[in-house]
This record gives sequence, C-alpha cells and structure tokens, in this order.
Amino acid sequence: MIGIFGGTFDPIHFGHLRTALDVMQTVGLDEVRFIPLHGAVHRDQPKTPADLRLEMVRLATRQQQGFVVDDREIRRAGDSYTVDTLASLRKEQPDRSLCLLLGMDAFDGFLGWHRPDQILRLAHLIVMKRPGEERSKESKVEMLLDARLVSNPAQLRDRDCGMILHQPVTQLDISASKIRSLVAEGRTPRFLLPEAVLQLIENKHLYLTDHAKEPQ
Ligand code: ATP
Repeated sequence: MIGIFGGTFDPIHFGHLRTALDVMQTVGLDEVRFIPLHGAVHRDQPKTPADLRLEMVRLATRQQQGFVVDDREIRRAGDSYTVDTLASLRKEQPDRSLCLLLGMDAFDGFLGWHRPDQILRLAHLIVMKRPGEERSKESKVEMLLDARLVSNPAQLRDRDCGMILHQPVTQLDISASKIRSLVAEGRTPRFLLPEAVLQLIENKHLYLTDHAKEPQ
C-alpha cells in the first residue's frame, strides 16, 4: 500500500513528517509519497515558488526510508486536483492500493472536493487528527460516509479502495503559517522543522516581510 500526502508544504515541517511516519508504521505502508501541489483549489495560493517548496520537501525527506518525493502536480502545473493525481498513480501502480492521508480539516470539506466519488474508487482515506481538531460524529461528511469507516488499519487490506480510517497520530501543534509568521517577525522557527529546511529558508530569504528584505 502506498500513502499519498499532498499539501502546499510552504514550508514542510515536523507536523507533516512525524504524522506521515506514524501512519506509515502503524498502517504498514510501503512508502509515503509527498506531493507538493501546484495550484491550490480550496485555499489561498502558496506564495513560495513551486521549485523551492519541492526542494524543501526533498531536503526534509531524504533521510527517511520509505519517504518519496513526487513532483507530478508541479510538472502538471495548473490547478492540482487530487482525483487526477490518484488516477495517474493508479495507472503506474495497478497492483498496489493507494491511501490518501489527510487532516481532519481537509476531511470535513471532502464532499466539496472535485469528484469525491471517484477519489473513493481510487483510494482509501486515512484521516489524521491535528491538535485542536475534534471529530464530530454528527458532521455531514461522517454521516454520509459512515458505512465506509473501519476501526483497524488491517481492514484496509480487505478492499482496494473506498474505506476510511481515523488514525491517531503524534499531536504536534505546528503549522506552516505559524512558521511563516515567526520568520516575518524576525524570530527563528528552529526545532519546528528540519535544520536543512531552515537553512534553505534563510539562504533564499523566504517569508521575510517586504520591509525586512530591503537592504539596510
Ligand atoms: P498552513 O498553515 O499554511 O495552512 P499546513 O501546516 O496546514 O499549512 P499544508 O501543507 O497545508 O500545511 O498541509 C498538508 C496536510 O498536512 C493537510 O492535510 C494538513 O491537515 C496536514 N498537517 C499539517 N500540519 C499538521 C500537523 N501539525 N499535524 C497533523 N497534520 C498536519
């Protein structure tokens, strides 16, 4: 089974990395593919160019066996629709099931995505809870998808796609927006993300306010 972890990764941080490792190990995935999006469909566009976000993902994942960087959404350009990404992966990997990793925030909006029905024909969903997020059993998405819920990772192997697992992960209250704000305020985000990513942020002067970028 292959895990698919998409995001803006602007920048990638330990909240992404530790939770992906938790899921890879508890569910027994062969690999987790980190797929930086090109054009966001459900949120603000990332400000950092795609090649730099991709480079940060490469630096962050290179030491973990099973972590794979996949640049297909960036190569495809335009809006990044998950259903297209899953369809192209399915063609390349017809024999392995795909598991889409997503936060509860993303899961709550899942039925508003492009072709959610088709996504469930291509992949399982693994929903990870972030700090501060509560699972509401009365939410519309939970009620509509209730029949697909499984409680044990092993049950994902019973079918190729279409099941939903809520997987507990290490709770790390880290977000890319918090990291960007720290840098903009002149504070270091060290220890919230890999050192190599921090070095790249500093070398490329990312996330500074326009004022801070001006030569003194
Ligand atoms: P931003 O703060 O800019 O919104 P982000 O930190 O949420 O960014 P994204 O790249 O947008 O990062 O996230 C990609 C996926 O990773 C989303 O599904 C999100 O829920 C999940 N994610 C991000 N941070 C964490 C975390 N600390 N714990 C668990 N999941 C996370």
